[in-house]
Amino acid sequence: MGRVGDERRLRVVVVGAGFGGLQLARALAGAPLEVLLVDRQNYHLFTPLLYQVASSLLNPSDIAFPVRAMFRDAPNVRYRQAEVTAVDLERRRLELGGGERLEYDYLVLATGSTTNYFGNASIEARALGLKNLPEALELRNHSLACLEAASHEPDAAERARLMTTVIVGGGPTGVEYAGALSELMALVLDGEYPIPRALGRIVLVEAQERLLAAFRPELGRYTEERLAAMGVEVKLGVRVTEAHDDHVLLSDGTRVESRTLVWSAGVRAADVEEPLPVPHARGGRLEVDAYLRVGGFAHAFAIGDLAGARDDGKELPMLSAPAMQQGRFVARYLRDVAAGRDPERRGPYRYQDKGIMAVIGRNAAVAELGGMTFTGFVGWAVWLLVHIYFLIGFRNRLAVLWTWWWNYVRRDRPVRIISSSPPPRLLEQERLRALVVSDTGPRSLRSATPPREP
Ligand SMILES: Cc1cc2nc3c(=O)[nH]c(=O)nc-3n(C[C@H](O)[C@H](O)[C@H](O)COP(=O)(O)OP(=O)(O)OC[C@H]3O[C@@H](n4cnc5c(N)ncnc54)[C@H](O)[C@@H]3O)c2cc1C
Repeated sequence: MGRVGDERRLRVVVVGAGFGGLQLARALAGAPLEVLLVDRQNYHLFTPLLYQVASSLLNPSDIAFPVRAMFRDAPNVRYRQAEVTAVDLERRRLELGGGERLEYDYLVLATGSTTNYFGNASIEARALGLKNLPEALELRNHSLACLEAASHEPDAAERARLMTTVIVGGGPTGVEYAGALSELMALVLDGEYPIPRALGRIVLVEAQERLLAAFRPELGRYTEERLAAMGVEVKLGVRVTEAHDDHVLLSDGTRVESRTLVWSAGVRAADVEEPLPVPHARGGRLEVDAYLRVGGFAHAFAIGDLAGARDDGKELPMLSAPAMQQGRFVARYLRDVAAGRDPERRGPYRYQDKGIMAVIGRNAAVAELGGMTFTGFVGWAVWLLVHIYFLIGFRNRLAVLWTWWWNYVRRDRPVRIISSSPPPRLLEQERLRALVVSDTGPRSLRSATPPREP
C-alpha cells in the first residue's frame, strides 16, 4: 500500500455523493491524492427541497446536480456510478454490485440513511416515501392522479378517500409537505377541479405530543397553529398502526378513509447490502471514534447519517450540517496524511451547531439560529436565504429563485405534471392507473395490491 513518498499516490475511495461525501471530495480537489467517488446515482440531491418536487413546485433538475459536472476541473477526483455491496475492512477492498472489486488505501463511507418503517409490514407495503427523487416523483404523480380520479368519481365515499392524505411524522419533512400540499390543494381546488375545497383533507399524525420535537416547544406550538389555520388536521400522541389500500388505522382507534399514506416518521442508517462487521450504534449507525474512524480501523471512516458520531457525549442528529462538517474534517485529516503530517494534530472532530429550521408555508417558518428563534415572515425569509445559499449550482439557484418568486406572486405550482414514473401505489382501480402515462420508472412497486394485467 502507498505511503507518503511512494511514487503512487494514495487512493481514497468515497462511497456516497450526498452532503458528506460531496463536501469531502470537493475539499480533496487538487490534493496529492487519487479520489474515487462512488455513488449508485449520478447526481447529488438537495433533500431539503425534495418536498417541493413532491408538491408540484420544483422540477427534479432544480434540486439535483450531476456529480461529474462538479469535478470537471479536478483531475484527481473521479466518479464511478455503482452500488457498493460489501466492504472488507481487513483487506482494504470493497465489492460493487456485479462482483467487481476495488482496492483502497483509505475509505470513507457516506451512504446516508434509509426509511425506517419500524417493522410494520402493512405500512411498508403501502406508504409512499419522501426520501429520494423517485419517491418524490411517485408521490407527485400519485396525488395528481388522485385529484384527476376524484374529479369524475361518482361515489361520494370513494371521492372523499381519494381526496384524503394521511402524513405520518411531525418532524420537518412531514410539516413541510403538509403545508405545501395544503397550498397546492387551495390553488387547484379553487378553480381547476369541480371538487369542493372542504373535501381536500390532510391529516398529519405524530406519535409524540408535539410537532417538531427537535425544536423549542413554542415553535412546535406555533407550527401546529399555522398548519391548523391552513386546514391541516394535526393529530398528536397518535400512531398509525395499520395501513390498508383504502384506509388507515390509528392507535386511538380512529379509522381514516384514505388512498394516500405518506411516511416521514423515521430513518435508519443505510449500511451496504452486506452489513459491516463492526459495532453499530442506535438507528443502525456505525460507531466511530473521535476521528470518525470505524471499528478500530485506521484506514476507514464513516461520516454523515451513517456515522454514530458524538460530541460531548451527545449523538449528532441526521442532518446535512454534521455530514458536511464531517466531510471537511476527514478531508483535512487525509490531506495531512498525504503531506506526511500528523493527522491527529488538530484534535478530534467537534460539531458546530449552526441551528435548525423548517418552513410551514407562505410567510411562515420556524428557525433556531445562534440562540435566537424566528417565526413568521422573518423565519420564512431566513429559511429562503439559507436554502438558496446551500443549493448547489448557479443555474439551480436561479431556477429555484425564479420559481419561488413566480409562486409567491402568482400563487402557482407549475409542475402539475403526471409523468412517466411508476403508477400510483395504493390505487388498484383501473381508471386511476390509466391516468398515468407509463410505468417505466426506476422503482419497483411494493403495493400489496399488484396491478392487474390489462
Ligand atoms: C425529505 C428530506 C428533507 C430533509 N431536510 C433537511 C433539512 O432541511 N436540513 C437538513 O440539515 N437536513 C435535512 N435532511 C437530512 C439530510 O438530507 C441528511 O442528513 C443528509 O443528506 C446526510 O448526508 P449524507 O452524506 O450522510 O447522506 P446522503 O446525503 O443521503 O447521501 C448518501 C449518498 O450515498 C449513496 N449511496 C447510499 N448507499 C450506497 C451504496 N451502497 N453504494 C453507492 N452509493 C450509495 C446515495 O445514493 C446518496 O447519494 C432531509 C432529508 C430528507 C430525506
